[in-house]
Amino acid sequence: MIKILIVEDERPISFLIEMNLTSRGYDCSCVDDGLKAADLLLENSYDLILLDIMLPGADGFELMEQIRPTGTPVIFITARGSVEDRVQGLRAGADDYLVKPFEIVELIARVESVLRRACKTEERYEIDDVIVEPKSMLVTKKGKPVTLTHKEYELLLLFLRNRNIALFRDKIYERVWEGEYLADSRTVDLHVQRLRRKLGWQKRLIAIYKVGYRLEV
Ligand code: CA
Repeated sequence: MIKILIVEDERPISFLIEMNLTSRGYDCSCVDDGLKAADLLLENSYDLILLDIMLPGADGFELMEQIRPTGTPVIFITARGSVEDRVQGLRAGADDYLVKPFEIVELIARVESVLRRACKTEERYEIDDVIVEPKSMLVTKKGKPVTLTHKEYELLLLFLRNRNIALFRDKIYERVWEGEYLADSRTVDLHVQRLRRKLGWQKRLIAIYKVGYRLEV
C-alpha cells in the first residue's frame, strides 16, 4: 500500500485530502504541526508527502531540508500562490505545487502523476470483468481485448483516474479533446455511450443531469 503523509494545519483541508486519497486505496497519515511532522519523518518512511508551507512549529521549507536527503517525493500545498513562492518551493526540491483552494480532481491528478514519475505505482484498474493496464494500453473484458478508439481510451483513463468524482462535460472535453468546449457538442455523450456499450458499464458511467458524468465504483 502506498503511504502518504499529509502535513497540514487546517483540519478541514487535511480531512478532505485524507478522505479522497483513502477512498482511492492510499494509506494516509495526517499531522498538523511542523515539529510533530519532523518526528514522524524520522521514525517512518513515506512514498509521498503533501506539505503545507505555513505551519506551526516548523514551516514547510524547514521540513523540506529534512525530507530532501531521503528522496521522498513532495507536493507543496499552500495558500501562497505567488510566483516567488512557487519558485522557492520548486528550488527547495518539491516535485509539484498545489495552490489552495484547489479542486480534488487536480489534487488526485498531481498525486498520481508524481507517484508515476517516482515509479511508486503500478497503474492497473480492475472493475467487474474489465481490466485496464495503461502501461501496455491493454483493455480487456472477460479476458478478451476490447477495441477502443484513441479518444475512447483517453476518456476511459480520465474516468478511471477520477473514480466517483462528477466530471463536468466541458472539463471532460477540454481534457480529452484538448480544445474549447462548444455547448451544443454531443461528442462527449456519444463517446460515453460507446464506452458504456463496449465495457458493459451502463450502470457504472452515470449521467448527472446538466453536469456531466461520473464513474461509480
Ligand atoms: Ca497552513
